[in-house]
Parts: sequence; C-alpha cells; structure tokens
Amino acid sequence: MTCDFIQLANPGVQKLKPYQPGKPIDELERELGIKDIVKLASNENPLGPGHKALHAAKAALQELHRYPDGSGFRLKSALAEQFGVQPNQITLGNGSNDVLELIARSWLAPGDEVIFSEHAFAVYPLVTLACSATPVQVPAVCFGHDLEAMAGAVTPRTRIIFVANPNNPTGTWFHRSALELFLAKVPEDVLVVLDEAYFEYVEEAYYPDGMSYLAKHANLIVTRTFSKIHGLAGLRIGYGVSSPEIADVLNRVRQPFNCNMVALAAAEASLQDSNYLEDSRSENTSGLGQLSEGFERLGLSTIPSVANFIAFDCQREAMPLYNALLKEGVIVRPIAAYGMPNYLRVSVGLARENERFLKALEKVLA
Ligand SMILES: *Cc1c(COP(=O)(O)O)cnc(C)c1O
Repeated sequence: MTCDFIQLANPGVQKLKPYQPGKPIDELERELGIKDIVKLASNENPLGPGHKALHAAKAALQELHRYPDGSGFRLKSALAEQFGVQPNQITLGNGSNDVLELIARSWLAPGDEVIFSEHAFAVYPLVTLACSATPVQVPAVCFGHDLEAMAGAVTPRTRIIFVANPNNPTGTWFHRSALELFLAKVPEDVLVVLDEAYFEYVEEAYYPDGMSYLAKHANLIVTRTFSKIHGLAGLRIGYGVSSPEIADVLNRVRQPFNCNMVALAAAEASLQDSNYLEDSRSENTSGLGQLSEGFERLGLSTIPSVANFIAFDCQREAMPLYNALLKEGVIVRPIAAYGMPNYLRVSVGLARENERFLKALEKVLA
C-alpha cells in the first residue's frame, strides 16, 4: 500500500506551495542555449562581493576541517560595536530567512495568528504555515503596508506581526511617525518583526532606523542581512537584533552551527568595507534613476521604490512578457504569487545591464 505523505504532513505544511526563486543563470543557459545572460531577478548586488569580504572568505577556507564558532563571537562583537547594542541582543542566522524561521518556530503553535500585509515577502506566510499557525493578511494601501489596520487586526491569538521596511516585492516604505504609532499600539506580548533587508540602500529623510526603537519596545526584533548591499547572498548570513530575552530564546532554538565559518568571516570583513558599501549604494541610486527614466520613456508605470528593485505595471498579464524577456537573455521576476499578476519586478543592475533590460523590454513590448 502506498502512503500519501502530503496528507500526513502538518496541516499548515499541506497548504504550502514551494517558494519560487529567481531563475538561475545556468538554468536559462541550459534551456535556451544562449550566453551573456543578465539576471535581474533576486535583488543581488551587481558589483559582486567586496574585496575585503572575498579576502576574508579565502583565508577562512584554510580552516574548513574545523567546526565554525557556534557563538559567532567575532561577528556579533563587530555588529554590536557598529550598532551600539550588546552581543547578547544578536541572533545570527543562515541568511535572515533563518532568523525569521527561528522566530516562528520559537513562538508559534497551531491556532496562533500571524499578521502580515498583502503583497508582503513570501517567507512570512511560509514560516507561519510551516508551524501550522494561521496567516492573517491585511489589505495593502497603494501596495504599501497599512500599519494602522495591521495593529487593528491583533486578537488574543496574535503572536507575531511581520513588517518589511522597505517591503519586497513592492519597494514601498513607511515613515518614522507611522512606525512609532504602530509600535505604541501593538500589545507588548505580540512580537513585532521589522525586516530591514534593504535598510542600507534607503536614503529618505524620514526613514526610521528600527534599532533605535529596541530600548523602548521589548517585543521588537529587527532583522537585517548580508545578502543584499553586502553582496554575500550565496554565503547565507543574516541577523536579528532584539532584547536579550528574545535573543536567548532564538539562540536555544537555532542549530548550534547554523552559520558557516566562511560566511562569518566574510560578513565581519564586509562590515568594515565602507568604500564598497558606499559604491554599492551610489551605483544603486543611479540605477534606480536610469530604470525609472526608462519606464517613463516606455510609458509604463512603476511603484516608487527605495530599495534595489522596482515593480512595474505591464498593464496585462505579465507572464508572457516575462517569457519573452527570457528569450532575450534577461531574467526578471514574476510576482503573481504576491497577488500582482500584471507586474514584474526588476532588480537594479549595472548601468549596462539596466540598459540591456530596457532595450529588451522595448523590443518585447513592440
Ligand atoms: C532578500 C530579503 C531578505 C533576506 O534574505 P536572506 O535570507 O538574508 O538572504 C529578507 N527579507 C526580505 C524582505 C528580503 O527581500
């Protein structure tokens, strides 16, 4: 007799659909037999990793026969110094997605509710359902988070609220004052996870620094990553900063060696690489301008973004356009799974990559 293992999975797991990552370059190479592919699908740093990170990573390779430092002492010390917090407030993760999952696993049981916004990052429903908790999706306003409605959606069963600032895939962000009102309204026994994966890119005057609210709000967890501006997505390293009590819980749940030694070393070095970070930021700012001008020229409307990607309105079902772009050797990201079937998301690349994308888009729209 054969067993239906999907039926035997946790109730929440049965509802999960596999996460759709951006198409890898070599997959498209295999499928279409084309070279010189431009991938603008996963919000990666187009400059490649920084010299300091690369150097530290290479040096770390000599020690691969050893286990990594399970306490992440050096990276935590460097982060603590940079952000003016204590090392015992930090939780390191195998990417910040790991931290999001640790939070869910630590506090969620079946029947608990988790609040997030419509069009929010796909990992929030993923980690919620994996724990058989109940996702509560709050309608967005102009594609952005409606923080007031999200705070209003709290019930006695609510354990966690996920907010992303800026959000992926929309690139929308919220002001300091909106965050302050929200934090004041959320009960103190509900965890607020403030996902700041794109923090370092944002240059807006009223953009809040989540870490500055930790002292006042013991239920706040700020997550950041080395995958985006630090250019280390392939190494998988991110972190959460919270009260020591929350960090203590997360550090009990995490696997003892969840961060590998190459990632730990490269991340520590990257924190000190201010030239690389500055170059990455200015490259992104000019790329956002280049793409915005291009969309305007093509008569396509976009959602204004402060991150390293832009979602644009195809004014029709986006999948055929996505496939046509693939044939031109340009990989972008369909976001129908985020409730945006007429939109595509493009990551900011180097000037010549942005140009390739705009040329290809003009061609496939004609
Ligand atoms: C890219 C991204 C992350 C980072 O994920 P990692 O696991 O650190 O690579 C987290 N949150 C959002 C909203 C993102 O877009």
